[in-house]
Amino acid sequence: MPPRSLDAVPRAGIGHWPTPLERCDRVREALGDGCPELWVKREDCSGLALGGNKVRKLDVLLGDALRQGAGRVLTYGALQSNHARQTAAACARLGLGCELVLTRLVDRGDGLYDRNGNRLLDDLLGATVTVLDDPSEVAGAVEAARERAAAAGEVLTEIPPGGTSPLGALGYVAAVEEWTAQSRAAGVRFDHVVVASSTGGTQAGILTGLKRTGAPATQVHGVAVYADAGTTAAAVAALLPPAAAELGMAPVPAEAVHVADEWLGGGYGVPTPAMREAVALFARTEGLLLDPVYSGKAGAALVGMIRSGSFAAGAKVLFVHTGGVPALFAYGDEVLA
Ligand SMILES: *Cc1c(COP(=O)(O)O)cnc(C)c1O
Repeated sequence: MPPRSLDAVPRAGIGHWPTPLERCDRVREALGDGCPELWVKREDCSGLALGGNKVRKLDVLLGDALRQGAGRVLTYGALQSNHARQTAAACARLGLGCELVLTRLVDRGDGLYDRNGNRLLDDLLGATVTVLDDPSEVAGAVEAARERAAAAGEVLTEIPPGGTSPLGALGYVAAVEEWTAQSRAAGVRFDHVVVASSTGGTQAGILTGLKRTGAPATQVHGVAVYADAGTTAAAVAALLPPAAAELGMAPVPAEAVHVADEWLGGGYGVPTPAMREAVALFARTEGLLLDPVYSGKAGAALVGMIRSGSFAAGAKVLFVHTGGVPALFAYGDEVLA
């Protein structure tokens, strides 16, 4: 297959690009001697309904769906899914119907988790929401959504969980191209990238983007926030060949996939002391809001790796802030350190 330009990939045009690239000197100062130079790629500022990393994936996925005549979109997630909220917002903006099938994966049993945060925004954004207690009920809910679309005479397009597919990953190839131009202008080259990883599309896109931009030596540290390291790394690795094929390039080898799960704690969506510390640190030193489920645990990993001396003195580290801010309101004062 001949190399394909990213510009040739249809987009829905739903984000604010470029997102900012900012230096975090006050976090660095707070962490003291030996802290590497820290930068943050502000994917929380991707512009659509409080932002986040799914906007980039949806930009590509919905660009493709529109080309195929989609009238309605169906996707899946946890009850407080950021992906579901960003899909609902994208559909509103594009004039598409939106069906969200949300499963109660995190048992918090309080009103905030069930009604506030992303869940409130899904309703506000006009999505049709089906909440399930058990993943075994998903097939039935999908069938019901299919019937509603058929009754309305609309083409229903399914977007996978997390917007993760080879095509969706191209959104993060584009993100790397974007930050490469920004970091060149700022005169910095990143040695390390730290990013939260759950369905793996973001990490796979970043790895592919680094190879494409000629920076394969940059080490990407995925931080597992959903499953264990092995499961997460396998999900990332499986996406590398098909994502590269979309662009007609050679794939990144699976050995380039590194995922740590020491910051997962009790599991997906379960708060940890290190998450609370990182959320408070970024808030109080930079005015920067992380979230309890994803960027807070990735932030905890960043802090943990700095303290354990994982980065050489003088290293330049990029933290990818993937968003998730609305979930702060679903956890209430549990995010306070
Ligand atoms: C979905 C999500 C991630 C993980 O991205 P994947 O591509 O699924 O690995 C990280 N951070 C936030 C805030 C998210 O919503």
